[in-house]
Amino acid sequence: MNDGTAGAEVVSLYEAHRKVYPREVEGRFARLRTLAAFVLLGIFYGLPWLQWNGRQAVLFDLPARKFHLFALTLWPQDFLYLSWLLILAALTLFFVTAVAGRVWCGYACPQTVWTEAFLGLERLVEGGRPQRLKLDRTPWTAEWVARKGLKQFLWISFAAWTGFSFVAFFTPARELAGNVVNLELGGWETFWILFYGFATYGNAGFLREQVCRYMCPYARFQSAMFDHDTLIVSYDPGRGEPRGARKRGVDPKAAGLGDCVDCTICVQVCPTGIDIRQGLQYECIACAACVDACDDVMERVGYQPGLIRYATERELKGEKTHYFRPRVLVYGGLLAALGIGFVVSLSLRQPIGLDVLRDRNALYRVLPGGDVENVYSLRILNKDDSAHRYVIETQPAGVFQVDAGPVDVSAGEVRAVPTRIRVRAADLSRAPRDLKISVRVADTPGLTAGHATRFFVPAQEIDDDDHHD
Ligand code: SF4
Ligand code: SF4
Repeated sequence: MNDGTAGAEVVSLYEAHRKVYPREVEGRFARLRTLAAFVLLGIFYGLPWLQWNGRQAVLFDLPARKFHLFALTLWPQDFLYLSWLLILAALTLFFVTAVAGRVWCGYACPQTVWTEAFLGLERLVEGGRPQRLKLDRTPWTAEWVARKGLKQFLWISFAAWTGFSFVAFFTPARELAGNVVNLELGGWETFWILFYGFATYGNAGFLREQVCRYMCPYARFQSAMFDHDTLIVSYDPGRGEPRGARKRGVDPKAAGLGDCVDCTICVQVCPTGIDIRQGLQYECIACAACVDACDDVMERVGYQPGLIRYATERELKGEKTHYFRPRVLVYGGLLAALGIGFVVSLSLRQPIGLDVLRDRNALYRVLPGGDVENVYSLRILNKDDSAHRYVIETQPAGVFQVDAGPVDVSAGEVRAVPTRIRVRAADLSRAPRDLKISVRVADTPGLTAGHATRFFVPAQEIDDDDHHD
């Protein structure tokens, strides 16, 4: 009986991993990638050691809930700036992707940059692509063990240094280094150094292109930001096809061939192991290694460079590329407006904060003689890098008398100040029920922070409509 499966082929949905051995490549884009890697890794590993006014220049001090960014210290009250920064980063990514495709992936993504670094160490120890391929096919020999062992040692050391540097953004680097040397690391510090180091080792040493192919969500939604005018790494089939090997000096047109000599060097240099000649693929991270490689081949066979190049779909069809299109203008306009707003808002930010809490157990107290007193708790926040003296005042002045002298608050400190405000019995009838308590920085004219509140007197209804101004 024929059950309908005769001749059917069983196809596995599981794709076995094929290790990629990217060939070394030289050229202008390779130099640009190396420069980007040096700058970005230099920032990551160097920044925790940079000092600014006696403290670490960039430190995310979570226990103290303060983020130090050079001269700027952000407090929980400044959370808005952090959200603003994240929105700016997302918009920048959208804008750059709409204009130039996945250049972020090719030049600046941590996965790409660390993979380049780990690959560099691998090449240093095991040699170029042919040597690596040969080594992986040989059985365990003394040379195999020595090379693989040295590579692992370098990888693990580099990963551990990466984990340390990551934690050094949250715990001062010098203190952390002392703790490592004296074996006095805390539990969380140990965990995060190991976790981040292990993640770097696994992602950049072993998973590599698989992170881009299977794990990265950006690769999945990037196509929504592409259009026919986006710059992508493209093979020019009109010029390259039909591809084929040929003898040196043969006129390709006469031989019925295009410019592609089918040397497959563009595939060998690709860090994700794809063949760009098959058209745009989501695995392509736009690193342009294939552009450099193919330009080199073209030069050697005496053809024009640019068979593989950054080009738009329109350009490949012989049409004009539209650089200024609605999508780019909208992203660009939003980015410019939000960027300017961010800089202006940050430059106008006052390094002072004030919170006022009223004593709710006793709304008011009638003193001997008929004077009425309200008690408040002021929290003065000095967001500056130097100590200041603060003078507490009220508006309107005159009827309200403040029973608290000037307060000294050191840099980055929050000082709670119990404050009594009094109205004399004779002034009760003309005293307004709304008042503003403010603190003025004594040594910086014009720097004040205020808080509107209520003043309660006997037989007054409770109204809880306090608000900041
Ligand atoms: S490197 Fe250039 S010439 Fe060689 S196969 Fe790739 S596209 Fe063709
Ligand atoms: S196809 Fe070219 S640009 Fe894309 S990932 Fe491979 S080498 Fe990089």
